[in-house]
Amino acid sequence: MGNETAGDKPQRYMLLAPPCIWAIFERELISVSTIWKFNMIITKKKDFQKILEYLKNKNKIFLYGCNSCAEQCETGGEKEIKEMTLLLENAGKNVTGFSLPDETCYSMIIKKDFREQKKTIEGSDAILVLACGAGVKAVSDTAGDEKPVFPALDSLYLANVTRYGHFFEGCALCGECVLGETGGICPHTNCPKGLLNGPCGGMADGKCEVNIENDCVWVRIYTRLKKQGRLDVLKKIAPAKDYSSGVRPRNTIVESRIKNKKQEDK
Ligand code: SF4
Ligand code: SF4
Repeated sequence: MGNETAGDKPQRYMLLAPPCIWAIFERELISVSTIWKFNMIITKKKDFQKILEYLKNKNKIFLYGCNSCAEQCETGGEKEIKEMTLLLENAGKNVTGFSLPDETCYSMIIKKDFREQKKTIEGSDAILVLACGAGVKAVSDTAGDEKPVFPALDSLYLANVTRYGHFFEGCALCGECVLGETGGICPHTNCPKGLLNGPCGGMADGKCEVNIENDCVWVRIYTRLKKQGRLDVLKKIAPAKDYSSGVRPRNTIVESRIKNKKQEDK
């Protein structure tokens, strides 16, 4: 990928996959991004004044968007890159160029992109990232200690896409899933108090006292387990949450994938 300047058509990346997989995708007209977009990180735009505060004394700005989650949220796709370019230029900044990777949270994609955009990025005073926190981290780690990297978005939550343009928080990533005991309905995510052993005293007529528009999650759990003939599950007291499984920062190494990749590369 060559250097891009604001206004160029953004470059998309091909991910490494066996040819047979690409053939299936092409045949079925399904893209990898489409599949991954069934779950996504929801973001919202930061106040532009906040961004200007970040960029105080920085004139030449390089932009990163994200053609996956942020594109779907309309916070970091091509349209938003163009809008941000205009805003920054109207504020007297010089946008040196931009990049719109398919997944900005993929550190290896960002490293490759940096190599290809080296001159433009080196000539920029700062990088502004229109992606979730993981995207900002990937760019920031790759940029190293010298180059300031700033977020243009706030990351909110992991969502299911329930309908086109409809996002619903599906999992709070607690590290110890209890859906097996709750009929597949998450009390962590759906109960504002995160209660694990039935409803609080504020539940009224099946509604949540915190947000009366919503059904109390424990009523939903009870109703579903009853239909499944599994109410006995509710007699067990859920133990206090073991947050040690969620000590941050978390990381996971999938040894079998690494092994398979090494074999493929031989
Ligand atoms: S219990 Fe809820 S928050 Fe925890 S992993 Fe399961 S779905 Fe996610
Ligand atoms: S009413 Fe139900 S969902 Fe609302 S806070 Fe109480 S237990 Fe949680």
